[in-house]
Amino acid sequence: MSSQQKPPVSARTQHISNGIATAHPITVARAAGAYLWDDQGKKYLDFVGGIGVLNVGHNHPRVVEAVRKQLDTFSHICFQVAAYDQYIDLAAQLNQMVGGAEHYKSVFLTTGAEAVENAIKIARAHTNRPGVIAFRGGFHGRTLMGMSLTGMSQPYRQNFGPLAPDIYHIPYPNEYRGVSTEKALVALQEVFDTQIAADRVAAIIIEPVQGDGGFIAAPAEFMRALRKKTEELGIMLICDEIQTGFGRTGKLFGFQHSGIQPDLVTVAKSLAGGLPISGVVGRAELMDAPLPGGLGGTYGGNPLGCAAALEVIKIFESENLVERSRAIGEQLLAGFEVLESRFKSIGHVRTIGAMAAVEFVTDRTSKEPDAAIAQRVIDAAREEGLLVIKCGVYRNVVRFICPLVISEQDVAEALGMFERALVAVKA
Ligand code: PLP
Repeated sequence: MSSQQKPPVSARTQHISNGIATAHPITVARAAGAYLWDDQGKKYLDFVGGIGVLNVGHNHPRVVEAVRKQLDTFSHICFQVAAYDQYIDLAAQLNQMVGGAEHYKSVFLTTGAEAVENAIKIARAHTNRPGVIAFRGGFHGRTLMGMSLTGMSQPYRQNFGPLAPDIYHIPYPNEYRGVSTEKALVALQEVFDTQIAADRVAAIIIEPVQGDGGFIAAPAEFMRALRKKTEELGIMLICDEIQTGFGRTGKLFGFQHSGIQPDLVTVAKSLAGGLPISGVVGRAELMDAPLPGGLGGTYGGNPLGCAAALEVIKIFESENLVERSRAIGEQLLAGFEVLESRFKSIGHVRTIGAMAAVEFVTDRTSKEPDAAIAQRVIDAAREEGLLVIKCGVYRNVVRFICPLVISEQDVAEALGMFERALVAVKA
């Protein structure tokens, strides 16, 4: 059936599971840098970037060239069958980026959820303990372990149980919603006192800045307290950097804002500029705990993904993208603050590097979340030519995750589009 007879969005409804939601009713024809074009020829500024995957932008010419070259050499081997330099080179670089002078090792997988799964396996194998503590509002993927660790009921956990056992959730510090560092630490102690003894806990997993949960940064003092406590109790600290990694927060990794050293770090998304590869990077003694054969996966650390990631790392250096992330964040925050003073539906604006968000409420005093207005703003922004998506436990937060290669002029343009969207929906 030709596309003229049946528009693509209807074909999508007919052929694709309702279980996968699509934020925007458009069909993409092509993309480059910070832009994408739909099949009607309309151009958009892409402030989603495949949900934080395209920090180097769509189709960065150097990534395309690196993948093309790799494709001419070999596209798949499977590291369980034979080694290849690209896998080892990438591991060596990540080990140094995460571990500094300490001995860290890596293993590569394909998706973020798989990286999370493997981080938990490694922590359990090393500690010989079952328990895992995660955070309310956290998001760690859609596999059994990923959704069990995720701290949001709908739509991620609902109807998919029974969930994986031995997982306990505590509040994530969020000053705007009344959860201080102290309160979150008290909740952690309560879990030890009432649900699982600390010496049965293998790991605590935390996003240094919650992504899907609403772009909320854990205060540095909380991260430091968590590090101290986990060290005292022999609990592994896992930082899930799948969304916060590769410059998004104005540092290479989110944990670097607090100066702590995690035991394990999960990476994916912007690691490889759009190619599917993920990994776990961790202290050597932990990474060596599973028996040979216990980790891996057919496509894990695929050569195309490794080649792309190696080029992404070079691009980060040559184009100063971590610095650029901070500048983008400052520009967005200045713009958001002006909008906050003009539009009463905006309850809170926040940026940490180029991880930027605007939270909508029905009333600034009660802070009641307003998901409906957030959705109307997103739809109106799309009409203006700006693509953004929502996040937050209450889905009332609009998140901005633009490619870091974006120009200052395009950030200003995006702010103008967002402002016109706010006017259009009478925010
Ligand atoms: N962890 C975090 C922090 C994420 O943001 C995501 C995806 O959004 C995941 C894990 C899951 O990654 P994937 O969708 O590649 O499985």
